[in-house]
Amino acid sequence: MRAAPVGYMCGVTIRAVVFDLDDTLFPEATYVASGFRAVGEALAREHRIEGFGERAAAVAAAGARGDVFDEALRRSGVAEDDLRGLVPWCVRRYREHLPDIALFPEAHEALENLRGKVKIGVLTDGWLVAQQGKVAALGLAARVDAVVYSDSFGREHWKPSEVPYRAVAEALGVAHDACVYVADNPAKDFITARALGWRTIQVARPGQTHPAVAPSEAHSAEVSALDLRAAMAVLAGWMG
Ligand SMILES: [Mg+2]
Repeated sequence: MRAAPVGYMCGVTIRAVVFDLDDTLFPEATYVASGFRAVGEALAREHRIEGFGERAAAVAAAGARGDVFDEALRRSGVAEDDLRGLVPWCVRRYREHLPDIALFPEAHEALENLRGKVKIGVLTDGWLVAQQGKVAALGLAARVDAVVYSDSFGREHWKPSEVPYRAVAEALGVAHDACVYVADNPAKDFITARALGWRTIQVARPGQTHPAVAPSEAHSAEVSALDLRAAMAVLAGWMG
C-alpha cells in the first residue's frame, strides 16, 4: 500500500526525495580513511611495504589532493621508477575496496521517516565501482527506490550533466517539478536540478569535504541547512 501524496508548494506536490551520497548520507572523510587503510593493508600483504595507510592520511591531511598516493609511496621508500606501476595499482585497490563506512545517524532517521510517504532516490557521482562499493557497504539498495550512478552513463555525464537527473526521475516515475534534491556540493549538485525544475536543499555541515559556498547564484540551492535533520525539517515544511 502506498501513502497518499503529501503537501503542496506552488501547487506542486513533492513525490520524490533524491539524495546525494558522499557527505550527504555518510561522511566522505570516513571513506577516504577506509580506502587508505585498505590500500595500506594490501601493500603490506602483497608488496611488503609497511605504513602506507598512515602516511597517506598524513599527506592528505597536509592538503595534498591529486598526488597523495605518489607522495605516500615515496615516503614509504618506493623508488621513483616503481611509482608508475604501483600508483595505478593503489588507485584500483582504493576504488575497489569494500569500505568500512556508516550512514550519518540522521540519515537513518530521514530514510525511515520518508519511507512510504514519497519515492526515495540516490543520485551519486564518482567512479562506478567505488560508488557501488559505498552503496553496498551502507545497505542502501534495500532502503531506497532507485540508485543512479552518473558514471554508468560515462565520465562526460557526471554532475552537472542532466542525464543522471533525468534518469533518476524516470526510474522513480516522478515529474521533475515533484522532485527534491538534497546534497552538499553547490559546485555541481544544484544547478541542473534547478534548471530541470527540481527543488533543492543544501546540507552544509561544518568540516565537509567540499566548499559550501556556491560559485554563482545559479549554482546555489533554494535552502541551506546545517545537517540532514535540519534539511528534513525544511522538507517537512514544504510537504505540509
Ligand atoms: Mg556529495
